Parts: sequence; structure tokens; C-alpha cells
Amino acid sequence: MKSIYQEVLLAAAEEILLLVAPDDLAILAVNPAACSMLGYPAEVLTGMSITDIECALADVFFWEEVRGGSAIEEQVMEGLYRRADGSLLAASKTVRRIAQGVLVRATDIGAQQRAEDELALMASRLRATLEATADGILVLDQDGRVANMNRRLARLWLLPEALLALHDDGALIDHMAAALEEPAVLRALLTGHAKDLKETFDILPLRDGRIFEASSRPARHDEQVIGRVFCITDVTERHKAEQALIAARDSANSANRAKSDFLAMMSHEIRTPMNGIIGMAQLLEMEPHTAEQREYISTIQSSGEALLGIINDILDYSKIEARKMSLENIGFDLRQIVADVEKLFRPKAAEKALAFSASVAESVPRVLVGDPTRLRQILINLLGNAFKFTSSGLVGVHVDVAPLTPGRVSLRVTVSDTGIGIAPDKCRHIFTPFEQADMSTTRRYGGTGLGLAICRMLCELMNGEIGVDSEEGVGSRFWFTAELEAGIGEEGRAPEAPRAILRQNTRILVVEDNPINRTVIGRMLERFGARDLDFAENGEEAVAHCAESHYELIFMDARMPRMDGLEATRALRAAGNTAYIIGVSADAMSEERDEALAAGMNDYVVKPVVRDALAASIDRWRQTLIAAHLAEGAAPHREV
Ligand code: ADP
Repeated sequence: MKSIYQEVLLAAAEEILLLVAPDDLAILAVNPAACSMLGYPAEVLTGMSITDIECALADVFFWEEVRGGSAIEEQVMEGLYRRADGSLLAASKTVRRIAQGVLVRATDIGAQQRAEDELALMASRLRATLEATADGILVLDQDGRVANMNRRLARLWLLPEALLALHDDGALIDHMAAALEEPAVLRALLTGHAKDLKETFDILPLRDGRIFEASSRPARHDEQVIGRVFCITDVTERHKAEQALIAARDSANSANRAKSDFLAMMSHEIRTPMNGIIGMAQLLEMEPHTAEQREYISTIQSSGEALLGIINDILDYSKIEARKMSLENIGFDLRQIVADVEKLFRPKAAEKALAFSASVAESVPRVLVGDPTRLRQILINLLGNAFKFTSSGLVGVHVDVAPLTPGRVSLRVTVSDTGIGIAPDKCRHIFTPFEQADMSTTRRYGGTGLGLAICRMLCELMNGEIGVDSEEGVGSRFWFTAELEAGIGEEGRAPEAPRAILRQNTRILVVEDNPINRTVIGRMLERFGARDLDFAENGEEAVAHCAESHYELIFMDARMPRMDGLEATRALRAAGNTAYIIGVSADAMSEERDEALAAGMNDYVVKPVVRDALAASIDRWRQTLIAAHLAEGAAPHREV
């Protein structure tokens, strides 16, 4: 057993082992490394003379002395071996006299040399890598001593050559720490993690205004932490760029806010005088007038409405773009909307001698839940275009639905015409803002190019799409879809025609700061039969009036100097006033409707207060009175 172990050991040895007989210099035994390194099989090597393979002159002399009986204890020397293939192997060898003979142990000097060269090469590669990075590198050993660093580190920390020459780690770290705004941070960083496995990441502001990023990780060897590598990056420029970006973002945000505020203000400022123009024209229309005057009045009205249309388009567009457009979700009768719109365009069809048809498929539910105002807006826009661009033939609108899920339908509205049509390459562009099919059309027909863009955004808000199929010179077929609930809900009512819908003795208070608009609302109410009207110029006056008299109906402007309409309403409700308050506002941008209702208003109309909207609001008040009476068990006969 013992000899097997010995053989194993011998086989594992990487040096050449030879046992030589001192009297005739014959090789008595060899190990596998000797065979492989010298290139002889064991049986050939044993039996050869040592001087057959050790061929340097010095070797030959040495072995002759051995044979001559000279005493050798242990000798270390260099020698040259001849391999079986004739090549030479330089070796460092130890020769020792043992009981059984002379033991020769030899190692390949070349291999050692190569290993040393390799190591030197690796070291220089490592240094080159270390110097090539843009980061400062500092390597500390497990006792916190500087094991390595690159020149970039010295440059980053502005370490003087004299200090580097000292090789004084303490002085080096002191110098680095002193450059920081908080020197203690660096000391803690360099000394705090000598043995742990954590990776660290710190931002280090320097006194001179630069910002460094310091990351570190443990250096390991054979699962042992043998030190820590620190990597220092100058991030001053990046930091500055980030700060500039943050500042730009902040100023863009505040510019956006300023834009929204500006739009809200514009909306109010433009729509307030529009109320005066359109309202006054409507009042004039109700007065006796000559045929010539009628033409003037209708020009004022149509110009006012055209201007209002443009203003509303711009506001709508800004509102959707600022994601401030919220849709209503109320029950309505689509047939009623189609009938209203049809009524609106009948005169146009007659004027241009166009055939005009509107149809709604049987399958369209009687009550749909969604935003009737916006659906009407899209429909009016498409029909407006169809009439605008068609001079002969017909214009038609058809509404159909496809069921989606139980209780939900996809509405599909088609508006076709036999007008000028649109070139195929233009069809895509007309739904993007400010784009028109071609500028010559615009010069001829006018328009802002916003209409279809708004329609597209509204359709998207309703989970739908819009598109067109068209052929130049033949006509166009615009279509849009919208997802709606098929619901059981309150149907929108058609506004009543102007007639005496108010009792003469209904006590009414009109609160409005703008004198023209005060007159417009007052006169319109008179047209509706009201005789008992009071006026207030602001919220405070309104509250004072209400303390003295009892009003059934109050028209309250939302925005007024001193006390605004919302505040006044809250004050009245707090004092127990139960009048029906209709908010009136020129503000189309903000979500004022909800605020108005929350403040205690019963209804809300938007300026310009056109006759029909006012009539519809008064009608809603009448409906609530009737409902209240029915609830009390009274017959609905009372005139309201
Ligand atoms: P505008 O307010 O300028 O009419 P729109 O967005 O409503 O803007 O329409 C964009 C363009 O699309 C129009 O200028 C016109 O060139 C084209 N267009 C829209 N509808 C029709 C139609 N029914 N027939 C032919 N061209 C149309």
C-alpha cells in the first residue's frame, strides 16, 4: 500500500525526478514528469546514462567527479537537458546524495520565466486599464492602506506630486477629505467598510463646486475580503445638465399653467362681450323692424355666431390638448338631437337647393347615456362641412348602432355629400389640427382647420374613431363611432320656443356685474313674460336684496368683483334661502359647472346666454316645481 501512495505522489510531482547510480551514472528510476518533459518512455530513460541527457560541459564534469567518488551533499545548479527530439531544456536542478544513489530534482527554468513574464504582462495591462478609465480608482487593502490608485484619482483630487512622493496614506486621505464640503463623509466611507461585503454609492459635493460620485465594492480573493475598490467620477457637468433640465421642466410647467390661466381668462373676456352682441341682436329681432333692419340684425347675429364658433373651436382645442375636457354622462334621446340638427340645417338645404335626409336606424335605443352636447357638436361640424363643400345633389345623415357588450353600444354616424370631395393623399391630414385639404379651398370656403381635429379628439374621448371615404368631384362620406351606454335615463328635453313661460308675478333677481349683459338677460326674461324683476351688480348686493325680499328665481353670474356668484350662493344657502338659483358663466374652460352645483346652485348656463338655453333652464325649473307638487300629492295644474 505504501508503495502505491508513493507512486501517486511521484506521479503528481511537476518536477523532473531522477535517481542515478553513483558508480556507473546509470539512471535507476524516473517519475512521469521526467518522461513527459524529456520525451522518453520510462523504460528507455531507465538504463540510459545521466550524461546522455545532461549535456552541458559543466554537467559532464560534475558527473565524472561523482563517479570518481567525490562527496556531494546537496548542490543547486543550472543545467541543460537534451530531449528525445533533440531540443534542449534549460533547468534549475538540485542534486543530493541519498542512501540509494544520487537524487536529481529539476524544474523547467523556461516555464518559470514564462510565468514571470506573464505576470509582468498582466500587471502592465492592469495598470494600462486602470489609467485608461475616466474615473479615479483607489484600492485600499483590508487594513485601510493604499494598495493602488491611478493618476486620474490624483488629478481629480488635485493631489500635489510632493504629497504623492511621500507615500503617506494618512496625509493623502486628509488632503482628499479637506476638499469636501463634509470631510467626515469621506473618512467614514474609506474606513467604514473595510471588512464588509456591501457596495456603496455616495454623492460628494466639493468645496470648489464640483460634484463627485463615489462607488465602492469589496475586493475578494478566495472568498476572503482583501480590501475595497473605490471608483470616483466627476459628475459636475451631468449634474448641471440635470439641474438645467429640472429648471426647464419647472418653467414649462409654469408656462403651461400660465397658458391654461390665460385661456380661462380669454374665454371669459371674449365670451362676455359676445353675450352682449348676440343677446342684443336677439332682442332687436323681437322688436318691430323694417326689412332692411332685419337684414342688419341677421347679419349681426350670423357674424356673432360665426365668431363665437371660432372662439369655441379654439377653446375646445386648447381644453382637449390641456386634458381638461371632461365629457358628460347623461341620458338623452339621439333621435331628438338628429331632429334638432336637421331643423337647424333645413334652411341651408333650401337655400342651396340640396336634397337633405336624416335617418336613425330602428335598432338605436331610445335612451342613450353619454354627452349629447358633444355628439351634437360633431354632427353639426360634419354637416356644416358637407353643406359648405356641396353645391348640388344631396347631403344625408344616417345613424346606426352595433351592440358591444350587454348595455353598451357603438354608435355609427355617417354624413354623406355629393360635394367637391377630397384627394386621397389629403384624407389623412384633414383630421390633424390646422390642416386643410388645400389652401385654395380655404381661400374659397374659409375655416380654421380645427373642426375635424376637434371631432377626432372628441371621438377618441368617447372611445370611438372618425374617418372619411371620398372621391374628388364625386363626394365624401364622413363617419364616426362612439361608445355609449344604452340606458334608462332622463331624456334631454327640447328647449321651448320663446313664449310666455314665466308668470308675470314670478319674483326674479338678476345678479350680473356687466350692464349690457344685465340688460340682455332682463329683456329676455321680460320676453318670457316676467314683470317682477330686480337687479344686483354683485354678490353682496344680491345677499342684501334677498334679506329684504323673497325671490323664486335668481340668475347669478358666477364671476363678479367683490363677492362672486359662488360665494353669494353659499351665503344665501347658509341663511336658509331656497330660491331656484341658475348660475350664468362666460367661463368655458374651468370645471365651474360642478363647483356651481356644489355651491348650491340648481342649474348652470354658459354665456352667451342664448334664448333657447335660457328657456331650457327655466323649463327645468318648472319641471322641478311640478315634480315637487306631485310629490306633495297635489295635482299638476298650478301654473308656474
Ligand atoms: P375648417 O374649419 O377649415 O372647415 P375642418 O377641420 O372642418 O376645418 O376641415 C378641414 C378640411 O377638410 C377643410 O378645409 C376641407 O378642405 C376638408 N373637408 C372637410 N369636410 C369636407 C367635405 N365634406 N367635402 C370636401 N372637403 C372637406
